[in-house]
Formats: sequence, structure tokens, C-alpha cells
Amino acid sequence: MLKKFLGEVVVLVAGKPAEAVADILDAKKHVNEFIIAKKLGITINQTRNILYRLSNQGLVSSIRKKDKKKGWYTYFWKLEVAKALRFLKEALDKRIDQINHQIKSREIKQFYVCELCKIELNEENALLHDFTCNECGSILSLKDNAKVLKELKKSLAKMERERNLVEEEIRKEVEKLEKKRARELKKEEKEKAKKKAEAAAKRKEARKKAAKTAKKKPAKSVKKKAVKKAPSKKTKRESFRKLISKKLKKK
Ligand SMILES: [Zn+2]
Repeated sequence: MLKKFLGEVVVLVAGKPAEAVADILDAKKHVNEFIIAKKLGITINQTRNILYRLSNQGLVSSIRKKDKKKGWYTYFWKLEVAKALRFLKEALDKRIDQINHQIKSREIKQFYVCELCKIELNEENALLHDFTCNECGSILSLKDNAKVLKELKKSLAKMERERNLVEEEIRKEVEKLEKKRARELKKEEKEKAKKKAEAAAKRKEARKKAAKTAKKKPAKSVKKKAVKKAPSKKTKRESFRKLISKKLKKK
């Protein structure tokens, strides 16, 4: 089902001849554009033309690699499945809207046809032409809206079924992407924790080393030049007072 939808998207964007691109492209790994061209049986420029059109809508993504010998870049392409499905869903939504619009108009308006020329006119235009065909002059006849409505409703139901299926595929794809993202996050966190533990172990080791060297040569690390503190004004006053009281006692 997914393959069929992806093929439909490619046809919508790049035309019927490009349909096989959906089979050749992968959703997981990037495919060399020369391989795509070979499988499609068209030139590299024709292939790139198709891929650029898909890329403009965000339906494919690419990476490039430089050829070390030749010095040019080769592009590798991958399908963006979720985006492609959303694109298809939007296209279906538009078609469904159009059909609904046609159904409404068929339900309230009359149409006239020339059976010979297969030309259809709405009521105003038919009146304007006196209910005769502009091309052949035959009398126009009233169109059987019931028949048209039946066909429209049939194709509406088909479109809605397809849209539901596409929505289901989108849900699956989003779930897949979320699981992938969760796995990546878990991996990142694991690596972060590992790095943190490693850094902590390193710090611990460094502290141990520092402690050991401190024990071995305590003098070097402890030794500090004793700085003579200049006596403060307060202590000066204190000693002066003591000296005076001594002298007074002697007397
Ligand atoms: Zn006619």
C-alpha cells in the first residue's frame, strides 16, 4: 500500500514517466543518482530533473560525496516518506473538496447539454443561447443530474477511502520516526552519562595524585613566607597604655 501511495505522489509531482523512482529510492539509505538513472534507463540529467522536482516539494533529500579522483560531486537520494504521504493527503483533500463542491452544485443547479457536441452549459448560459447549441444549432437538452451525482458520490467515497488509508500510513510513519528519535535520544544520554562518569573518575584520580604528592613533600606545599604584620593602631595604643601604667606604678 505504501509503495502504491509513494508511486502516486511521484506521478503527481514529476509525471507518469517518473513513477518507477518510488520503487528505486529507499526510505533508509541514500541511493547513488547514477544507479537511479541506470535503473530508470534515462540520462543522468533527466534523472536529476525528476529528483529536483521531488526535492522542491521536500519529498526526497540528498547528501553529496566528492569523487577524490575526478573532483566532482555525486548526489545520493533518499525518500522522505512522511512528507510524501502528507503531500498525497493534501492532494486528496483538495480533490475531495472539489468533488463536494461539484456535488453541491449538481444538487441545486440545472445543466443543459448538446448530445451531439458533448457540450455542457449551466442554466444562465443555456438561457443566453436560447437553449440552442452554439456550435451546431441543435436544441439543448436537460442534463440528468442524478446520473452525474451517482458518479460523483462514487468517486468521492473512493477518494475518502484512500485518504483514510494514507492517514493510516502517516500514523505508522510518524510512530516509526518517533521511535527512531527516542532511540537516538537514549543513545545520546547514555554517551553523556558515560562522559560524565569518565570526567568524574579523572578528577578523582587527579585528587588522589595531589594528595600523595602533598604527603611526600609536605614542606614544599605547606611552607609559606611568614609575613610580618605591621601592628595596628589599636595594638600600638594598647602597648602605649601598658607602658604608662607601669611607669605610674613605679612611682
Ligand atoms: Zn451542438
